[in-house]
Amino acid sequence: MQYTDLYINGEWRPSADGKRFDVMNPADEKVLASVASATVDDARVALDAAAEAGALWAKRSPRERGEVLRKAFELFTSRLDEFARLITLENGKARGDAMGEAVYSAEFFRWFSEEAVRAHGMVSHAPSSGARILVQYKPAGIAVLITPWNYPAAMGTRKIAPALAAGCPVIIKPASETPLTMLALMPLLEEAGVPKGLVNVLPSRNTGAIVDEMLHDPRVRVVSFTGSTEVGRTLLKNAADQVLKPAMELGGNAPLLVFEDADIDAAVQGAMLAKMRNLGEACTAANRFYVHENVADKFIAKFTEAMGGLKMGNGLEVGIDVGPLVNKSTRDKVAHFVDDAVSRGARVHLGGAMPNGKGFFYPPTVLSNVPEDAECVTDEIFGPVAAIQTFTDEDDVIRRANNTEYGLVAYVFTEDMRRGLRVSEQLEYGMVGLNRGLVSDPAAPFGGVKQSGLGREGGHEGMLEFMEAQYIATNW
Ligand code: NAP
Repeated sequence: MQYTDLYINGEWRPSADGKRFDVMNPADEKVLASVASATVDDARVALDAAAEAGALWAKRSPRERGEVLRKAFELFTSRLDEFARLITLENGKARGDAMGEAVYSAEFFRWFSEEAVRAHGMVSHAPSSGARILVQYKPAGIAVLITPWNYPAAMGTRKIAPALAAGCPVIIKPASETPLTMLALMPLLEEAGVPKGLVNVLPSRNTGAIVDEMLHDPRVRVVSFTGSTEVGRTLLKNAADQVLKPAMELGGNAPLLVFEDADIDAAVQGAMLAKMRNLGEACTAANRFYVHENVADKFIAKFTEAMGGLKMGNGLEVGIDVGPLVNKSTRDKVAHFVDDAVSRGARVHLGGAMPNGKGFFYPPTVLSNVPEDAECVTDEIFGPVAAIQTFTDEDDVIRRANNTEYGLVAYVFTEDMRRGLRVSEQLEYGMVGLNRGLVSDPAAPFGGVKQSGLGREGGHEGMLEFMEAQYIATNW
């Protein structure tokens, strides 16, 4: 069964003005579904539902909230195939990536079912008086969640699970390219015991207008966004009017450093994960490769061989590693980055040419000798292209790695742990993968510094994003 209407107050309904928009399969460019497009009036109805449900949910005990989330984890885990298929259909990513996302998405329900009972406060003596300091954490209020298309399930569950654990109701605005997965999650949440009105989903092509309406409703207290830095800046400005609590997971431009003492096979394996997980359409994707001059030839040869072994095609088919990119503009942007780098003197080791035919495919591509001012170095590629440069000096490569307004994640490969930790500490990034090409873990605080964002998702911090500390001063 396909869910294509708005989900408000536990009910499926068309939009107030009856308008709909098409969702496309990027593998064959055919229309997959026609989805209701929420209006400002629909957003108001969702806010009323969230306010009513939220007041009751906040009074439920942490244990009860945790048990609903645990049930959601179990149900999700029993339907991984179903969700993986839907993710591939609307996003294009290959089945293996989609299954990885489905498992990752489900894990947020498990992790936050456990965290729900751990919003510990504190009691202490005031240092210079006889007073006591009591601190407790309370649900912040209605949370507006805005998610991107690159992880249609996980970017939603990474916000829904901690919000519900904290005691907050939510309204989700999924990306217009990929709203189907989030809609399909709603019957599962109902079955898990999520009360009506607590979680609402508003796909919409009136994105700016409905989000603006919600951010200006006095009942809303949190805006949690994952997406581009550009839209994040706009949302931060809009959130300022009501001084909302912002959580911003924004763009990245991850450097990947391979030192001359690295285990090259392990570095290639890590680089494949950091570059090709999700086809490079990830904020965590390695964007700039810096390889020590003495091992560059060896690394490039082995990495090119691994990239060349990947099979491209419709992500639903068995044996496919690389599906299509999500849409034409993303694919054309990737092609432009490659052409730009080549025109500036980059050498193509693999790929580099857009295939003919239907679907937004772009092949795994390896470039070396990429100059620092190439657009694929200064901007986020968001595709299967590795741009390799070389270095000789540790301080110089740290400076080059930090030379960006982004600060989400960096990767370091070295067999010398002393160097690994020394370099990691100097990298201006919220996360570092040290001899690992994968950092995402529901139990760890995911997030960036500088213009990659504010706040953290996952870990213990993830739930606190949806809570406010209250301090009570007292004597006894
Ligand atoms: P995007 O264009 O910023 O869109 C993200 C979401 O924001 C979509 O739901 C979009 O709705 C909505 N949106 C667009 N304009 C808006 C506005 N004016 N007001 C309110 N909402 C608005 O990003 P994307 O292209 O989908 O995703 C790619 C970006 O996300 C990359 O930069 C990537 O690095 C980043 N990302 C970051 C993380 C992280 O955790 N740091 C994780 C994943 C992705 P419509 O679809 O309706 O336009």
